[in-house]
Amino acid sequence: MKTRIVLGIESSCDETAAALVTGDRVILAQRIASQDEAHRPYGGVVPEIAARAHAERLAPLIEATLADAGMTLDQVDAIAATAGPGLIGGVMVGLVTAKALAMASDKPLIAVNHLEGHALSPRLADAALEYPYLLLLVSGGHCQILLVEGVGQFRRLATTIDDALGEAFDKSAKVLGLGYPGGPALERLALEGNAKKVRLPRPLKGSDEPHFSFAGLKSAVLRAKQSGEHSDADIAASFQQAAIDCLVDRLTRALAKVGPINALVVAGGVAANKAIRGALEALAAKHGLPFIAPPLALCTDNAAMIAWAGMERLERGQSDPLDVAARPRWPLDPEAEVVRGAGVKA
Ligand code: AMP
Ligand code: MG
Repeated sequence: MKTRIVLGIESSCDETAAALVTGDRVILAQRIASQDEAHRPYGGVVPEIAARAHAERLAPLIEATLADAGMTLDQVDAIAATAGPGLIGGVMVGLVTAKALAMASDKPLIAVNHLEGHALSPRLADAALEYPYLLLLVSGGHCQILLVEGVGQFRRLATTIDDALGEAFDKSAKVLGLGYPGGPALERLALEGNAKKVRLPRPLKGSDEPHFSFAGLKSAVLRAKQSGEHSDADIAASFQQAAIDCLVDRLTRALAKVGPINALVVAGGVAANKAIRGALEALAAKHGLPFIAPPLALCTDNAAMIAWAGMERLERGQSDPLDVAARPRWPLDPEAEVVRGAGVKA
């Protein structure tokens, strides 16, 4: 049988993206329009500006993506779009566009959970990765450890009780005057610093509960900066090391509790961080597990992962009705307890 092709659409935060992905894991074309410039003056994503930018850019972006692949909509087998979680205005723009395309072309619509896009992206990158695997999902809005048992089958083992790790990176970067989004800039600055110079807390390290906490670490970065006693590079390096220590500690706990798994996997925007990747690789090796991280371009928000999650669903005969609703909140594991302070990050 001819391999199938899914058009993926992503618009849940501040990237407008479209991609065409085949059932045998070829990304035929993908385009991403970042809105960093539009949000930079505000130091964070402004929902109304994001929604308007998605509305202006998405249709031409889809056209350009199809043109890049030399294809028309007729040659696509299904249309997949992020239906949540995320900023509702942007999600609506992407989902409504997908519905219109699905209706006009008489193709199935697949409403994808953005987090499932991240969670399954390692399988787009690596055909050998089989379920179940242990996933660290670290992004601007999330910090979770998930047991990925199959499509739509997730057990959340841990989440953050306050800030997401990407948020902690971005806020610490802001304190250090690194601009927005600051995660990548903080990683670069950390290369020039000494991680042992600034004493910073490791919240919940060694704790009996499974979760993460980064708010206290972020506040300690602010105090370290205000003290005037440290170089920015030392603060950046010490912050990054504290974050890594927390990740490794919490994952070590999860690895001790979980049954047999095939790999330790990381996904989400913060997975672009090379120091974090290095630490996780060492942790996986210690437990005799393969370590899998998608290529950097698949870590931050993109539409190829949405197309791939759509493909996994299409291959299992799943699609959604045209009146499927956008979901600003949509946990991967609906059974997981709501954790105090986790807010929309649950
Ligand atoms: P996402 O929410 O998946 O779009 O990921 C965006 C988040 O990842 C933002 O908080 C970024 O600051 C963060 N991020 C991206 N690259 C890096 C990096 N190299 N180190 C740390 N954080 C990063
Ligand atoms: Mg994301």
